[in-house]
Amino acid sequence: MAAIATMSELPPALSLRAQSRPAPDDPIERSRLPADQYDAVAKLCFNENPFGPPPSVVEAMTHAFKYVNRYGYPDGGIVQAIAAQHGVGPENILLGAGSTEILEVADAAFLGAHKKVVGVEPTFGTVYEYATGIDADAIRLPLGADYRQDIPAMLEAVRRHQKDVGLVYLCNPNNPTGVTVHRDEVKQLLDGLPEGIPVLIDEAYHHFVEDPGYATSVPYVTQGRSVVIARTFSKIAALAGLRLGYAVAPAQLISRMRPHIGSTHVNVLAKWAGVAALKDTEGQKQVKTTIVELRKKTTTELTSLGYKVIPSETNFFMVDLRQPVMQVIRQFRERNVLVGRPFPPMLQHLRVSVGTAEEMGRFMAAFKEIMSVKTSAGR
Ligand code: PMP
Repeated sequence: MAAIATMSELPPALSLRAQSRPAPDDPIERSRLPADQYDAVAKLCFNENPFGPPPSVVEAMTHAFKYVNRYGYPDGGIVQAIAAQHGVGPENILLGAGSTEILEVADAAFLGAHKKVVGVEPTFGTVYEYATGIDADAIRLPLGADYRQDIPAMLEAVRRHQKDVGLVYLCNPNNPTGVTVHRDEVKQLLDGLPEGIPVLIDEAYHHFVEDPGYATSVPYVTQGRSVVIARTFSKIAALAGLRLGYAVAPAQLISRMRPHIGSTHVNVLAKWAGVAALKDTEGQKQVKTTIVELRKKTTTELTSLGYKVIPSETNFFMVDLRQPVMQVIRQFRERNVLVGRPFPPMLQHLRVSVGTAEEMGRFMAAFKEIMSVKTSAGR
């Protein structure tokens, strides 16, 4: 009883945070290796950018280092810089410690206890996991043909559960499949939803997309539609360990989210790094070109070995192993290659992040070894 009373006295961000500690089977916790072992493995399991930030970003962090002993400091104008990039005002931006915090805060703001979030499965799980932690719930719909998100089915589910639904989650492109939702499908979803149900559109992999049918949904924010766009500096900008992401949304949705965000969550180095990263458009173009080339090379090779790969628009892809994925993940691990995790219900598909050319070489060598061991053993 005393514990409950103490919890309820905490400000919202703190009490929610306390409930969302990583579970013992959290994949990030599971793959936390000692530093000496960490450097030796090919890390193809978290869709990170293997190249790291460019010199301009490192320089910005070096400059900001003189502020690390302060609480108050110049922050480089990070919010204004993000707002300018998207042609919106600072009132349309909410910074997060990674976009994970944005996803959690969207849950906290729009899903009271026992409300539901509607989305597909598999997708990036944070929104559903956090919902469970705050006694809300998820309606998880299966993917449609070609692993696409089925918009009519989503609309139907929302209509059927309308009084309980607090949020719709659309990961575009989707993680773990790498498949986009086309701009006309996003419009169909937004136009078809009952008034006032916010749609959280997670564009973590926006920068890798080539598909001409895809478009960012940020322009819906300036139209005042009920959308929250989540972006991250963890992928194209290579700052996953620094923790920086943000939401772009109409001001009244930002105001509903803001009370739930941590008050000292984004650190000074992340802010200055973010400002510099926004200017690095040339470097980011190069990262995209290199990653897309390596993805195509690897997936072509897998296809030529007779394995089906889901066409991806991101810095990762899924290959159908035609056998349970967990045992294969373990065998990669034995060969110092970290790949995937199970994404129910696609339990025979392996998700592989695109790393450096050297890492992809190690992946292919291990893949051939693991799969041909099975073939020659007749399993
Ligand atoms: N959304 C998606 C779709 C992701 O794949 C990830 C991380 N893998 C995130 C959000 C969270 O990223 P971060 O918290 O590092 O910004």
